[in-house]
Amino acid sequence: MKTRQGRATGKNDTDKTENKSSRIPGFYRLPVEQRLAFLARNFGLTDQQVSELRNGNALRIEHAVNLVENAIGMLALPLGLGLNFLIDGRDYIVPMAIEEASIIAAASKAALIIRAGGGFKTRVDKPIMIGQIQVLEIKDMDEAIKKVHEHKGDILNQANLASPRMVARGGGVFDIETRVVNGRDIGPMLIVHLLYDVRDAMGANAINSACEAAGPLIQSITGGRVNLRILSNLADRRLARAEFSLPFEYLSGKEMSGDIAAMRIVEAGQFAWADPYRAATHNKGIFNGICAAALALGQDWRAIEAGGHAYAARDGRYRSLTNFSIVDHKLRGEIELPLQVGWVGGLTNSHPGVKTLRQISGIRNATELAGVLAAVGLAQNFAACHALSTVGIQKGHMALHARSVAISVGVPADEVEAVAQEMINRGEVNTTVAEEIYRRMRKRPKLKEKRGDLPVEVFAPGKIILFGEHATVYNYPGITTTIDIGMTLRISRDPDGPRFVAPEYKQVFPIPSTEQDVQAFSKAVELALSMYGLENEPIAIQVESDLVPGMGLGSSAAFSVALCSALRRYKNISTHQRLDRKLFADVQRLESIFHGTPSGMDAATVLTNCVLWFRKGPPREILPIRTHTALTGLICLVEPGAATIELVQRVRDFRNRYPDTANKILEEIGNLTVDAGIALGIGDIPELGRLMFKNHELLVKLGVSTPALDNAVGLLLDRGVLGAKLTGSGGGGAVIALVKPDTQYELVNQLSEEFASVFPFTVRANT
Ligand code: NAD
Repeated sequence: MKTRQGRATGKNDTDKTENKSSRIPGFYRLPVEQRLAFLARNFGLTDQQVSELRNGNALRIEHAVNLVENAIGMLALPLGLGLNFLIDGRDYIVPMAIEEASIIAAASKAALIIRAGGGFKTRVDKPIMIGQIQVLEIKDMDEAIKKVHEHKGDILNQANLASPRMVARGGGVFDIETRVVNGRDIGPMLIVHLLYDVRDAMGANAINSACEAAGPLIQSITGGRVNLRILSNLADRRLARAEFSLPFEYLSGKEMSGDIAAMRIVEAGQFAWADPYRAATHNKGIFNGICAAALALGQDWRAIEAGGHAYAARDGRYRSLTNFSIVDHKLRGEIELPLQVGWVGGLTNSHPGVKTLRQISGIRNATELAGVLAAVGLAQNFAACHALSTVGIQKGHMALHARSVAISVGVPADEVEAVAQEMINRGEVNTTVAEEIYRRMRKRPKLKEKRGDLPVEVFAPGKIILFGEHATVYNYPGITTTIDIGMTLRISRDPDGPRFVAPEYKQVFPIPSTEQDVQAFSKAVELALSMYGLENEPIAIQVESDLVPGMGLGSSAAFSVALCSALRRYKNISTHQRLDRKLFADVQRLESIFHGTPSGMDAATVLTNCVLWFRKGPPREILPIRTHTALTGLICLVEPGAATIELVQRVRDFRNRYPDTANKILEEIGNLTVDAGIALGIGDIPELGRLMFKNHELLVKLGVSTPALDNAVGLLLDRGVLGAKLTGSGGGGAVIALVKPDTQYELVNQLSEEFASVFPFTVRANT
């Protein structure tokens, strides 16, 4: 087979598309909502695009019925991002649609290693496709071939009449070739090839039209009978190549040194070159990556696969599409295969989901797409050969495989992780074990009428808002965490009960506990007792609290959680999840006594007792955030706080009066909260601190800070904290600061002089 190599012309050098980095450390640790928020922020996606990606419903049924016959719906697949791809000095994010576990992780990991060695280099041929015209019943084959070549100009003109616009773009049919092939039963036939430059298209339809247009002329020139007129998917004039070169040290691991790993990878490659049984599996791994990316980017992946497999057998024996060798003490990896891909036409522009993914990918034309797919195939194959030659692939597969086994037996999303983890711990990953574990988890003790032993004592922590207060009211996300101090609620026997002993709070400020407050607590207790059918129970409920009310530290949520949890324990109702839906609903009912219509953020934070991502929705997002590094901080009580409801109204009034200014501030807070989620995920503490100061500035602009709070933030800045801001609704209350661990206690001592009260908080890392 002849090849016409050369750098393709498809690159659009005037394209000034900003090249976003594909290196997003910790992306895999973030909850999906945070990942989407990150994409929306960095790639300018609309809410609709985000929702369509998340739910897999970008393609509408009205469109689907026009694409295929007998349409009945759509089939969704998991969609992820292949990261870390540095190709020809440019970053690409590779969307991948695939159901098989480990593929996206393996590609991203391989791309990260290869990136460290300088990334991939690619070479992509011009986009030349082959169209075939089959001519039978030819009397004089040599004469027919001669005439076809003599009439080349006429044939090209006739073929190009089918797509004048392609010619105008500098493409179209530019050459012909003739081949004679023997049918098994019908003897020799003439095959005329049209060589077609399809520019930025995959080109199947364009070339089929050209073949059909030229068919009658070829029939009359040759005197034979024309049968098929169709493209060839063995697009071997349109090869894409990718390569990398890695110093051995990037391959060394616990199991073996880098040079041994490299040698074993080379041996794995030689096995696949020599043996079709191995080559089939080896190449399947390559297409795991290529097809997943091709599908997500609207390509005809069947055409790509067919071309790849046919090319793998080009010397008469089916072989590997990659090659590994050792050159200058480095592992060199190479791939070469036909890649018939389009940046226009087909689904590329008509599927809204594909359009969004193109936007994220950073790819600008068909040539770049072919280079990216080649690099993805090579990365995938390198990952597999590396794992197979060193630790084997089962180890890496197990976690994801366990999750997919759990899903397959119907374990709900929020319990998949727990079931999967237990299977891994037991070393048994299969559907029977998954079902058994899940059944056991679901088995809740029957509601016994027997009361629990008394006394019952429950501790509920307080909470602070790390980022996003007020913006959460307008459906931007907020990030909260629990703190070490909280409230302890005790139920004891009392023959005169039920009786409630109102909490005695630490009085750091001279704030008289108003009649209203006491009434709210009593009302909440009354409601809780009736919710659990305990109106006539001989019990006393007593509360001790370290939380100062009205400071944004979540004292009402801690009270509501402690009360519901204690009454449930008293009634022997088990709570098997951190965010038990029924318990959450009960707590919210009590919270509404304190706050009218509470968003649920405080209750969810206290219940889950972790760093939480919250968006009120709908749909409501309550997700634990992965925190890469522990946080150490201070809470400084500055002055008596104002009622949340008043501050929320103040922002509403401001927004009514100055909608543009207010919306811009709220949006900035929303964006900053997304960035903070990422910084938490990757453990970028200095960035978190910077974002805290920025968040405070925006809250000042929103009109919810006070001179005392601003002075407090200024003082903390002078003392060298990493970040500081007001927390909660503002109008007074507390300020939080992020500090270096070794300064935390010293600062508590120093600042105790300055504030009514200062106490440390620590958030554990949760990876
Ligand atoms: P297409 O039919 O959508 O044609 C591409 C269109 O884009 C043409 O109208 C062309 O004029 C236009 N265009 C605009 N700007 C262009 C540019 N810069 N470069 C090139 N064209 C440009 O798509 P196609 O690529 O001809 O065909 C791809 C579709 O054909 C895929 O959906 C594929 O599944 C399908 N198909 C495949 C096979 C096969 O592989 N065996 C067979 C038949 C059909």
